[in-house]
Amino acid sequence: MARAAAAEPGWRAALAAALPPAALPDDPGLLAAHLTDWRGQKTGHADALVRPGSAAEVQAVVRLAAAHGLALVPQGGNTGLVGGSVPEPGPVPGARPVLLVSMQRMAAVRGIDPIGLSMTVEAGAVLETVHTAAALHGCAFPLSLGAKGSATIGGLVSTNAGGTQVLRHGPMRALVLGLEAVLPDGGLLDQLAPLRKDNTGYDLKQLLIGAEGTLGIVTAASLRLVPAPAARATAWVGLSGFDAALALLARLRRALGETVESFECMGREGLELVAALLGHRAPVGLEHPLHVLIELASAEAGAALDARLVDLLAEAAGAGIVGNAVLAQTEAQRGQFWRLREELPEAERREGPALKNDVSVPVACVPQLHAQGIAALAAAFPGARPLVFGHLGDGNLHFNLRPPAGEGARWLAAHGEAARRMLHDLVISLGGSISAEHGIGTLKRAELARLGNPARLAAMRAIKAALDPQGLMNPEKLVPPAPAALARGAGAS
Ligand SMILES: Cc1cc2nc3c(=O)[nH]c(=O)nc-3n(C[C@H](O)[C@H](O)[C@H](O)COP(=O)(O)OP(=O)(O)OC[C@H]3O[C@@H](n4cnc5c(N)ncnc54)[C@H](O)[C@@H]3O)c2cc1C
Repeated sequence: MARAAAAEPGWRAALAAALPPAALPDDPGLLAAHLTDWRGQKTGHADALVRPGSAAEVQAVVRLAAAHGLALVPQGGNTGLVGGSVPEPGPVPGARPVLLVSMQRMAAVRGIDPIGLSMTVEAGAVLETVHTAAALHGCAFPLSLGAKGSATIGGLVSTNAGGTQVLRHGPMRALVLGLEAVLPDGGLLDQLAPLRKDNTGYDLKQLLIGAEGTLGIVTAASLRLVPAPAARATAWVGLSGFDAALALLARLRRALGETVESFECMGREGLELVAALLGHRAPVGLEHPLHVLIELASAEAGAALDARLVDLLAEAAGAGIVGNAVLAQTEAQRGQFWRLREELPEAERREGPALKNDVSVPVACVPQLHAQGIAALAAAFPGARPLVFGHLGDGNLHFNLRPPAGEGARWLAAHGEAARRMLHDLVISLGGSISAEHGIGTLKRAELARLGNPARLAAMRAIKAALDPQGLMNPEKLVPPAPAALARGAGAS
């Protein structure tokens, strides 16, 4: 698409003068590789790729963008699921040129403190690298998710990612002790010290966590570590449904407290898909409609944890709560259990387009959300195939909907938004959230505008306008335009 650049001329020359060649690759193929999202459903346009190698280079890019009126789209591993990590396909407001700012060159581990239990890393560090670095010092970074081989610390911070250990350790918001970021005016916010106590006013680092790149570019973070667990026990359990699963969760937590680290759920349909497309089979039979992956972790060494879990599962089976259960006997078997859970999104992607929903409700409301959601969608969209999995212990379900067999993207284009609205209305009626952990990006922005609390949306717009008055940072993501602007732009995509 031809673009009418309203920006100051000469921005390319200014960038080339400000940055070393490694930060400004002149390779259209390299740029193109950054423009399509993980789902393969959105391809955007950018005028140049920048790959800064230091916080000072990020500052140079942001100052230049502010001076020349350029839009900036920060990107980490590009595994985000809401369209936030790639630019828009059409012109951004003001027809600004767009720079894709990849943080992948800033990937150093700056330091680990095994006594203070913290690690300082640059924004482009990949999550799996962080896990490995922590383990070398007898520590663990307690956040994990299926995209751990690509997702970066900057992306995880900016989406306030959750994952499979939130039940015990909380989301990214609970795991960041300090942050370094370049603000839209080019200033460096240096709150990187790994302080457990700092009561000196507004916590700006918390404002940047979950901001999806709309308030600045994260350049480094100090992360909270925990001592590496000395023992783990992992079980795969088949049950009759969500009521039984929550009864089991309550029993485990009563008996084991904080030792319960993960409580993940998968419906039978998802496991059928993983078996068909990736060849991995569930450890217990698919006659059980719901499957749960449970992991306990303890700082105390010894086999007692396994025995304790076996006893508790046997008691729950005796009470009619558990249908069948298998304990992982080896580290390899534990890995197989986790692969089944973590590869579900990949199996879904291979099958074809689907409506992705990432919702949360108070944990006790999950059975109601599931039952009413399935019934309402089946009545309104006959033949559509729900696929539900997620982080049950956090009240967070990925309540996805696949088109009826034989239908595809066209069905989604015709019915997807109506189905999404129906589910979101139910979630809101149960006191829940339309985005539990993936964020808003572009995919959920209209729904945030429709369902978000007006006072909160107004405050979000005011914060955005105060910190980024030119609207340069990740335009058209997360923060919905004010209703008046929406009315003026009616008809625009
Ligand atoms: C298979 C799979 C499983 C997943 N499982 C989970 C899960 O269990 N829980 C969960 O929460 N998410 C999950 N996700 C989503 C995704 O992995 C997370 O959102 C992750 O945090 C994105 O990290 P990233 O580095 O890829 O960020 P990107 O996708 O590159 O970017 C995400 C957002 O952050 C912004 N951003 C990136 N880096 C910076 C930076 N340095 N400064 C400012 N803004 C920045 C981008 O502009 C964008 O808005 C999953 C994704 C996949 C593909």
